[in-house]
Amino acid sequence: MTDLVLRARGVRKKFGDIEVLRGIDLEVRPGEVLCVIGPSGSGKSTLLRCFNHLERIDAGRIWVNGELIGYEQHGASEGTLRERRPRDVRRQRERIGMVFQRFHLFPHRTAVQNVMEGPVTVKGLKWAHAQRQASELLDRVGLADRADHYPAQLSGGQQQRVAIARALAMEPTLMLFDEPTSALDPELVGEVLGVMRDLARSGMTMIVVTHEMGFAREVADRVIFMDEGAVVEAGRPDELFTQPRHERTQAFLSTVL
Ligand code: ADP
Ligand code: MG
Repeated sequence: MTDLVLRARGVRKKFGDIEVLRGIDLEVRPGEVLCVIGPSGSGKSTLLRCFNHLERIDAGRIWVNGELIGYEQHGASEGTLRERRPRDVRRQRERIGMVFQRFHLFPHRTAVQNVMEGPVTVKGLKWAHAQRQASELLDRVGLADRADHYPAQLSGGQQQRVAIARALAMEPTLMLFDEPTSALDPELVGEVLGVMRDLARSGMTMIVVTHEMGFAREVADRVIFMDEGAVVEAGRPDELFTQPRHERTQAFLSTVL
């Protein structure tokens, strides 16, 4: 269990009377790329948000790097949990990078300043050190020449690459992507997927919610299909895309492939 980056067991989440996650089990190993596909409203975003403390779960357990998210063991019995202190929650969140459909960059800061923000304010890194690291990360996402541009001066694809660099600046052990290319004009999708592909090849552990089936097929080690708050089917991309076992997976794939 400790050599897993993420482990989820029986995760349930309700909004009011509606159960949007109905017992999710999941394991992600170091360096693995897991793609999550499924229709709108199936609970994909909610699941990612639970991994990052953005939602509180109603039942089940989530471990990241072997550590229980949000809670800690209290006493000898497995069932006895105590809520973590806010400081511990912040520490846990720092290790998880998240990239959303919308980029959420600070509009009045340049690209390099956006990337430096977390390391300086959260980690207390020295300005010069953080700036050097941020420049390297912008170079890595192909934006070395855009470091001093403001978000409004960048295309959507460039902004999303800055957002990826910003997440990487915190040196996460796990990167979560929630439809990172869905808000982009079609001609800008490729440059963002290219950065994600490079990141995957560099060994980063990633969970990617996406409608880009080509990307999932090429880059994912494993794909899960979610529907109505449950994992309907999981498998290697070459299996799941060519020989889906479940009728619902087949039906979904026939609408997107
Ligand atoms: P997906 O990302 O697969 O499209 P979501 O996780 O966004 O699905 O949503 C799953 C279900 O939960 C949907 O029915 C959605 O309307 C509902 N939902 C999501 N967030 C909230 C919220 N904050 N309050 C109430 N309902 C929500
Ligand atoms: Mg979503």
